[in-house]
Amino acid sequence: MAPSRVLILGGTVEAARLAEHLDANAGFEPITSLAGRTHSPAPLPGAVRRGGFGGSEGLARYIDSAAIDVVIDATHPFAMRISQNALEACDATGHPLLRLERPAWRRQPGDSWIDVANVEAAARRLGGQGRRVFLSIGRLELAPFASLDDIWFLLRMIDRPGEPPPLADFELVLDRGPFDAEAEAVLLARHQIDTIVSKNSGGTATYGKIAAARRLGLPVVMIGRPSPLAVNSVEAVGDAMNWLTKLRLTQ
Ligand code: NAP
Repeated sequence: MAPSRVLILGGTVEAARLAEHLDANAGFEPITSLAGRTHSPAPLPGAVRRGGFGGSEGLARYIDSAAIDVVIDATHPFAMRISQNALEACDATGHPLLRLERPAWRRQPGDSWIDVANVEAAARRLGGQGRRVFLSIGRLELAPFASLDDIWFLLRMIDRPGEPPPLADFELVLDRGPFDAEAEAVLLARHQIDTIVSKNSGGTATYGKIAAARRLGLPVVMIGRPSPLAVNSVEAVGDAMNWLTKLRLTQ
């Protein structure tokens, strides 16, 4: 039987780990798709393509032209557009789709979280909350914070952005995770951070700042995940492998 060609919609640690497992298994051929936001992403096993497809229709065309057998949406929990596109493209082409999404972080004793529904609500909540804020939400959704000109922001990104961040007062640190709690506590103390804004991304790579905030008694404005789509879903790479193996055996 020819290997099953698996399109992994990537950009996460879990997507990279799934590509490793599939690449090591003769029954599968992984093709990881990256949006192309990072200049020099970490190397991945198997084939890699970069850049958008052109909406759900473009993705459907790609699935057909690249002879994809199955799609795994392992994108970040907050990357909703590509997930919606994957759902529509697989509906249109009749391809199986599985969502691989790591569990959200849960509040632990000692955490001081302020739960908000989205980035705009986080910006509204910050007014009156902090003066020196670690805004840890990536570079694409900073606009809602632009009017908060009495707050100093610490930003951290992998690459220097093409456009300067739309904030009145900030410092930009360039660094790539994973980040452990000890190093995060040092960073927070050095910059005298009094509040953190974070998406509830889940996983271990960026959990260090949450653990450090607990240790230092700092509040975290925690942005909740968008509502999940109606897609067959697993939380762990091993479960995705089992699902793929079963699917292959029944084909
Ligand atoms: P998004 O808003 O859901 O998607 C915007 C557009 O980017 C999509 O319509 C698609 O363009 C393209 N795209 C996104 N992911 C892609 C992929 N894996 N392969 C090919 N094209 C992709 O996505 P986003 O939130 O900007 O995230 C972009 C990437 O960064 C994702 O791969 C995600 O896993 C990763 N990431 C996101 C976050 C976050 O907080 N959102 C955090 C860490 C990593 P077309 O419509 O032209 O196909």
